[in-house]
Amino acid sequence: MTSLSKSGPNIEILIGKARDGHDLSREEIIQLLKMPEDHSPALFKAADAVRKEQMGDEIFLRGIIEFSNYCERNCLYCGLRCGNSKISRYRMTIDEIVATAMQIKSMGIPTVVLQSGEDSFFSAEIMVNLIKRIRAETGLIITLSIGERSLADYQAFGQAGANRYLLKHETASKDIYNYLRPGCKLESRLQCLFNLKKLGFETGTGNMVGLPGQTPEILADDLLIMKILDADMLGIGPFIAHPDTPLGGLDNDDLELTLRVLALARLITRNTNIPATTALGTLHPQGRIMALQAGANVVMPDFTPEIYKSRYDIYPGRADIGSAKDIMTKLQIDFSFIGRTILYSVGHRQK
Ligand code: SAH
Ligand code: SF4
Repeated sequence: MTSLSKSGPNIEILIGKARDGHDLSREEIIQLLKMPEDHSPALFKAADAVRKEQMGDEIFLRGIIEFSNYCERNCLYCGLRCGNSKISRYRMTIDEIVATAMQIKSMGIPTVVLQSGEDSFFSAEIMVNLIKRIRAETGLIITLSIGERSLADYQAFGQAGANRYLLKHETASKDIYNYLRPGCKLESRLQCLFNLKKLGFETGTGNMVGLPGQTPEILADDLLIMKILDADMLGIGPFIAHPDTPLGGLDNDDLELTLRVLALARLITRNTNIPATTALGTLHPQGRIMALQAGANVVMPDFTPEIYKSRYDIYPGRADIGSAKDIMTKLQIDFSFIGRTILYSVGHRQK
């Protein structure tokens, strides 16, 4: 019994309990977040088993287009914040966005994610026209990730043919949220998420791991929000400091903790779609593959045209530089090494 620490058997029992689908209390989640690192492989293995049982071995792809890096918000962590004067701003034209969506379709990928800063230039009317054009000209499933909008806007997006929406709650701590997102309220963000659910969107939430002031207790609350919201998709990524933001000086070595949160998200929510985020790939060359072996089942290759891609500088060193074809070839090779294949179909959450 040399390798089992004092907390050993108890931890193993907890991991088994989570793997078998029993609810974990907040205290138990905290215990797993704080456990010694030698237990991590068992946690990742359990999450991988639940991923396999619930979602199968196929990886769902979503092609992402980052169509505007203008943002009216000033989030302290993000390179697109309006206070960053060093960034070179761009907006893709509607024709460019539709042409890029066509490219995603031509790769056999069935869904597109349209992401941007909070940019009111893309009014509800413009977004509705864009959604209608993409639906009519490509037939792709559309996910939006364009921040907080009114209930009426969300309704219009849904009626125009958007099916899914990603809006990470970012952190369950009101204090950290208020500090990091000046002028924004966690309650409003959660209200947007409830509105989206009510309107029938497949809804994605999620958090960043490694934020200043974050504790295991707060991360446990993040996981409980994911569960309570009955979210369909979960974006869990490490915070990566951007030098041109007020958080520029902070280091992040939270790869292990991020994977731990992701694995727990799989164990707690069972059948959600969980991407191996680009941010994990940025933190570690094998980060995305590690995530795919710790509960993740989705990858979102970046199809933003080369001339714009590097300017969507949310955090430095973002992965997926290269042409769409190069990216797809590399992904296929990476996936085959871990015995996984690409699913070229829609990948709705099965309930
Ligand atoms: N403006 C929209 C969508 C673009 S931002 C929104 O805020 O919802 C998309 C995601 O990027 C955010 O949800 C946030 O979690 C992530 N992000 C921003 N800055 C980051 C950073 N420095 N490190 C890691 N992720 C970051
Ligand atoms: Fe804008 Fe989103 Fe970045 Fe905040 S996280 S500054 S809302 S792009």
